[in-house]
Amino acid sequence: MDTPEEIILAANLEAYRLFGDPSIAPTTADEHVPASHCVWTRNILEQGLRGLPKDIIGLVSTHGCDCTNRQFDIWLDTVDLDFMYFLNSPLKRDQTAKDFFIQDMKELIRQLEDHFNIKISDQNLREQIALMNKIRKKLKELSEYRNKMMLKFSELHGLIKSTLTTDKTHALQIVNEKLEEVKTRESFSNESLKRVLLTGSVIDDNSFVKNVENAGFHIVIDDMCIGTHYFWHTMDESGDPLEAIANYHFEKPIYSTKVPSHKRYKFIENLIDNYQVEGVINIAQKFCESILYDHPFLSDKFRQNNMPYLFVEKGYNREAYKQLSTRFDAFAEII
Ligand code: SF4
Repeated sequence: MDTPEEIILAANLEAYRLFGDPSIAPTTADEHVPASHCVWTRNILEQGLRGLPKDIIGLVSTHGCDCTNRQFDIWLDTVDLDFMYFLNSPLKRDQTAKDFFIQDMKELIRQLEDHFNIKISDQNLREQIALMNKIRKKLKELSEYRNKMMLKFSELHGLIKSTLTTDKTHALQIVNEKLEEVKTRESFSNESLKRVLLTGSVIDDNSFVKNVENAGFHIVIDDMCIGTHYFWHTMDESGDPLEAIANYHFEKPIYSTKVPSHKRYKFIENLIDNYQVEGVINIAQKFCESILYDHPFLSDKFRQNNMPYLFVEKGYNREAYKQLSTRFDAFAEII
């Protein structure tokens, strides 16, 4: 989620985020990577190996965890796309790291310009930053209706996924329409629903989110990449656009793949206080190392603060979700 959509849009291309498909098994991907690698990345690789839709002409992969980083090398060798670029989004968030990130974004721009015979100007970038900011602001406004018990996270999650896969002017329109519709709703306030915060690996299957909700939880706030991380902040629209993009990615809620981990806890702690959270659910895609590494630290912190905490690992198929229902039921009872 560190791929700057603004650069792709300024190149007059459409930014289309790849998502997993829980209906397929990573049989071909397993010939390239061990089955003990993250289930989500293997699922995406499987789609690449089987062939992506014809209108996907390039791939920008951004430095995340070891799985995403090394699997890019396999994509380079095995998937036939016109344009491929690995963007180095640094682990640290200091000035040296920021300068490095900006230099690498400049290289991405240079390669896009060469490959597609186009020019990406600062003015193009500023226009796309402004458009994305409008979307982010509306999504954040919409997200607040979760706190008023007028919007489910599954709805917001579905909308963010649409935003990530559609023309952004159209995305702004559908987000606006949803916001206007939600404003007219009655609250579904229900005391038996437990107010929880959802965090963890990338969760892109909307039906999984619905499963959590159907177990008796209201996901009043989240710390997810397809969630608050996508809209919590906006970018500066006046200064140097690459500096603005870098600042945005360095200031937004931190991922488990980045350091320091305590910043992630701090962000979650503030959300817990501000949204009257009654419990935290941390979901790891099976074999997601970065979430597994963070789990003992988070578990200790929540225990010290008497915050009910559930950690679960999930497989990437809908049959596997069913095995989790008793754990969700037990957690709802504890809260
Ligand atoms: S789910 Fe975890 S292991 Fe998989 S790509 Fe994301 S951070 Fe990496």
